[in-house]
Amino acid sequence: MAQRIVASAQDLGYSWRKLDKLMYQDRWKPEYAFGHYGDPHGVKWSARMYIQEAVANGALLINGAKVKKVIIEGETATGVEYTKDGQTSKAFASKVIVAAGGIGTPVILRASGIDRAGYDFFFDPLIGVRGTVKDIDVPTREIPMSAGVHLEDEGYMLTDMAHPSATTAFFAAGVFRFDQMFSRRRTLQIMVKAKDALGGRLTNTGGIRKNLDDHEKRKLSRGYARAKAILKNAGAKNIFKTWYLAAHPGGTVKIGELVDSNLKTAYTNLYVCDCSVIPEAWGLPPTSTIIALGKRLAKHLSSEKEVSDGPRRETVAAAAELDRQISTH
Ligand SMILES: Cc1cc2nc3c(=O)[nH]c(=O)nc-3n(C[C@H](O)[C@H](O)[C@H](O)COP(=O)(O)OP(=O)(O)OC[C@H]3O[C@@H](n4cnc5c(N)ncnc54)[C@H](O)[C@@H]3O)c2cc1C
Repeated sequence: MAQRIVASAQDLGYSWRKLDKLMYQDRWKPEYAFGHYGDPHGVKWSARMYIQEAVANGALLINGAKVKKVIIEGETATGVEYTKDGQTSKAFASKVIVAAGGIGTPVILRASGIDRAGYDFFFDPLIGVRGTVKDIDVPTREIPMSAGVHLEDEGYMLTDMAHPSATTAFFAAGVFRFDQMFSRRRTLQIMVKAKDALGGRLTNTGGIRKNLDDHEKRKLSRGYARAKAILKNAGAKNIFKTWYLAAHPGGTVKIGELVDSNLKTAYTNLYVCDCSVIPEAWGLPPTSTIIALGKRLAKHLSSEKEVSDGPRRETVAAAAELDRQISTH
């Protein structure tokens, strides 16, 4: 599918190119199904490796806990209150770093008294543009977003987008294309993902209240027209677009507003590190940026520690090993 789309897009003059993937090439085999709902062969990069590293170095992981709020004593964060298995408990630490994502983090901060969290955010709206061809049998090993193009001036990107059967059916039903619910194996799909302006608000429970304005809808429509032409050129019929979706919520706890350039809030010992802190409209996959922010914060906090405790050689060695793994993959 990706190759068919690449050929069509390049034929129409697009500089449609392979995209970098967060995958371990040496663990992958051509016959493996792509792990949409899991990853039995450990092919996909996962942020879990940082957790495993921390646990191996003595961190305590409380899994399945839902943080309700940060415990603030005076002007200082001292821990968090959380629920697990219906019970409320508290965990205390010398530093509290909230990393519950673009929606989860502002919900926790608001419950902790930081009322201005959760306003004027981005979520990178997207649509899928789909059509079917008779002479293709899309395999389950098809890797989504293998190649694409970023049309920066027009404010969106286009990539191929393979889906598993369930979401293929779900998104077709969402726009009443019941005839296309079971067409996964013959479907060519292009995702159009746009950069939206900052706006909207979250409710205290994380409900999203944001309307796309005409300008953003026009961007997606323009992307739709381009994707449709590429699919037609690839021989696709029955072309339609899915309803609007979004997958990158962020900008809810911005650097320069609610956290400083070291990701510290107005409270002593309370930091935020995730997609929330990105201070401006984004429009691109944010993972590498979030990892970079995490590594920078780790260095900042450990250098603070060095001043008080002296250098910890094992921590520096672990960070160097992590750097090596990241640069290898
Ligand atoms: C379908 C899909 C495809 C994507 N593809 C890409 C891609 O190809 N490339 C890319 O760069 N980005 C991609 N993204 C976006 C990317 O996954 C997110 O932007 C990124 O994970 C955000 O990182 P984060 O640390 O801010 O939050 P998250 O990764 O969401 O981490 C927050 C964590 O906090 C937990 N949490 C939330 N609330 C609480 C609470 N109260 N107590 C305890 N824990 C809590 C959540 O369960 C979650 O584990 C994709 C997103 C989706 C949905």
